[in-house]
Amino acid sequence: MARKKQFKAESKRLLDLMINSIYTHKEIFLRELISNASDAIDKYYYSNAGHVDPSTFEIRIEPNKEARTLTISDTGIGMSKEELEENLGTIAKSGSLAFKEQMENNKEHENDVDIIGQFGVGFYSAFMVAKELCVISKKDGSDEAYKWISDGDSGYTIEPAEKETTGTTIILTLKDDTENDDYSKYLETYTLKDLIKKYSDYIRYPIKMNVETS
Ligand code: ADP
Ligand code: MG
Repeated sequence: MARKKQFKAESKRLLDLMINSIYTHKEIFLRELISNASDAIDKYYYSNAGHVDPSTFEIRIEPNKEARTLTISDTGIGMSKEELEENLGTIAKSGSLAFKEQMENNKEHENDVDIIGQFGVGFYSAFMVAKELCVISKKDGSDEAYKWISDGDSGYTIEPAEKETTGTTIILTLKDDTENDDYSKYLETYTLKDLIKKYSDYIRYPIKMNVETS
């Protein structure tokens, strides 16, 4: 077992906030993950000076009802072990910084939950709907892949993994449904299609979805 590492304190505060976010904001996790996937494909393209085959670029969304997982994968630049640690283990690197600053200016934190929808709150927003996140990534130019796993609460682990292709795969194990929160809807093709339509207007890469037949 890999040793478990703790999130930085400021990340922890943001995580708490997200996890307790009101229902209507939760769906923006998909916007955030799709935009990260798109950024990663941009980086792959530009870091290779355009000498890559754009027909391979894609963002794939795969619901699995049986496993209760939603998987989002991209053919982007990927992350090394150090980048997984740096980018996902701390918030300082993230575009969530503006959000964090807003939070700090708002001392009473009365409007915490209202702020969430307005910002690009980033990767951590996946913890609004997932009880566990697994990020498997292989950096462009490397033949090693790594797996970052976290429940958003007790820290995270990083260990070597198997991955054929360059890029990143994010597996969300969805939270259990409660009286007020229906997370299972994120496994429904029609809900996902709606959200993709709503949140990916500006995405230049194809977003593909495996349709469950059962
Ligand atoms: P932001 O996108 O504003 O930088 P995020 O919290 O969304 O903030 O993501 C943090 C960082 O994690 C990104 O800047 C990027 O370096 C890395 N990252 C997240 N998702 C991916 C991905 N799918 N592929 C490669 N890197 C990623
Ligand atoms: Mg982002």
